[in-house]
Amino acid sequence: MSYLALYRKWRPVDFKGLVGQDAIVRTLKNALTKERVSHAYLFSGVRGTGKTSTAKLLAKAVNCLNIQDGEPCNQCENCVKINEDIFMDIIEIDAASNRGIDEIRDLREKIKFHPVEGKVKVYIIDEVHMLTGEAFNALLKTLEEPPGHVVFILATTEPQKIPLTILSRCQRFDFHKIPNDILKNHLKMIGEDSGAEITEEALNLMTKLAGGGLRDGISLLDQCITSSDGTITGEQVAAVSGIVDDETLMNLLKTIGGGALSETIREYELLKEKGKSIGQLLKDLMEAFKNMLLLKTVKDASNYIMASEEAIIKYQEIGNLFSKKDLLKWVYTLGELESQLKYSTHPDILLEVTLVKGVSSELGEEIKASVEPKKEGTIIVEKSIVPEVNAEPISPVKVETAVEAVEGSTEVTIEERPIEAEFVEEEVEEAIVVMTEPVSEAVIVEGDVIALWESFLEAFKKAKPLSYPFYVEGEAVAIEDNKLFIAYDEKYTFHKERGETDKHRANAEAILSQVAGKPMKVVLQFQVAEVKKEVSVEDKIKDIFGEYVTFIDS
Ligand SMILES: [Zn+2]
Repeated sequence: MSYLALYRKWRPVDFKGLVGQDAIVRTLKNALTKERVSHAYLFSGVRGTGKTSTAKLLAKAVNCLNIQDGEPCNQCENCVKINEDIFMDIIEIDAASNRGIDEIRDLREKIKFHPVEGKVKVYIIDEVHMLTGEAFNALLKTLEEPPGHVVFILATTEPQKIPLTILSRCQRFDFHKIPNDILKNHLKMIGEDSGAEITEEALNLMTKLAGGGLRDGISLLDQCITSSDGTITGEQVAAVSGIVDDETLMNLLKTIGGGALSETIREYELLKEKGKSIGQLLKDLMEAFKNMLLLKTVKDASNYIMASEEAIIKYQEIGNLFSKKDLLKWVYTLGELESQLKYSTHPDILLEVTLVKGVSSELGEEIKASVEPKKEGTIIVEKSIVPEVNAEPISPVKVETAVEAVEGSTEVTIEERPIEAEFVEEEVEEAIVVMTEPVSEAVIVEGDVIALWESFLEAFKKAKPLSYPFYVEGEAVAIEDNKLFIAYDEKYTFHKERGETDKHRANAEAILSQVAGKPMKVVLQFQVAEVKKEVSVEDKIKDIFGEYVTFIDS
């Protein structure tokens, strides 16, 4: 059975049979019952959502000789002819084929004639946004004074390309994507009717690939039925559509999550050998990371994921190998890569480099330290692991040096690319976290800073009461090279800026030097906002999944 045959077979003959567009059907049937059909309609929406089917049903209904509650009877002379595609008064124009110049001219000449056999002449103009400016003008003149015996139905996937003058003369219906559960049930029903056995995994995969469009779903089902000898499996759907099957993908994800670099490359090569397209592989990876993130963050996440129960369990298992932050970074990084792949002559290399870079950063700092030559940054990391050996406080100045060293060494190993910036940032963040920890843990050092800070504030308040208020909101965090580092929360930006002016700074340094018994300077800076970063991960998740998400309490 050919694709066309299966799709034709399931083309709806009445509004009842139209899938997933209940609101539109209700409005149209209402208009038909009350005989208030407009002269011009615009049906917009993504492909395969039922625009053309609805247009044909409406054309049939307005011509039906025995319409019942807004439904065509499918038995009268007109209905029968329309179902056989031999009805003279429904004229279909495909604006995409030759941009409609001849057709619209023809339309303008013939529109004044009355219907040949029906009650109403219906013009269905598909992909109407493709019309030329000239054709639009001709159409507009017709729409301005439509003859009583004519109905226009314009259909488009890109309503934003249609002139406002046309839009304003049409009653507009936006066709939404068909919800996954409805799509899935419909595919299941068609499959059963065709005598095909379809596994749950295969159904889910087909639904996902249909992307809210019934026509694409039926087309895929048809191809699967043709190439199967009995049961349709997920693997088969994957093979027909060229996507990666679950098991192979899961293996790749596992190696990424486990930080196993050579295994990751091996799995990736395996996928390429299987002839998977890089673009599809990238999409599948993004979807997988998104699913793992959902399962980790959102209550009842499985309701939002198009995957078999088996696959969801696997996603949960593998998801445990990643932090929420890592999953989010993978989604973003792969998303950015997607736009770059289009312009690349070597998309496979770009994806491989991204995987290598991502997996390398999953390994964390310990591997870095053992693999890379001893640079200043690495030494500091080592010191920070054993803080008791290092009595000297570690100041933000050294942290900056360390960050530079980390970045520098990254450039040596792998060429820096903008797409990998996310992962580089992560390394830097980790470096800061690791290296600042000892400051708070080393009690003696912290005690010294706090003692000095308290003595300073006390003296400062008495000696310079006009400068004191700008320093009291700060917090002393470290001493280094006779400099006292004072950190401010962002909400005290004003205090920090005033405190940094020459006059107040000179006052502070004079008193500080007195209290410390040696010349000292002050360095005012903002706090590293660790807590804020955690919150923003959830915000970013909301950005991706929308406001409906409910976070799992942790
Ligand atoms: Zn009829």
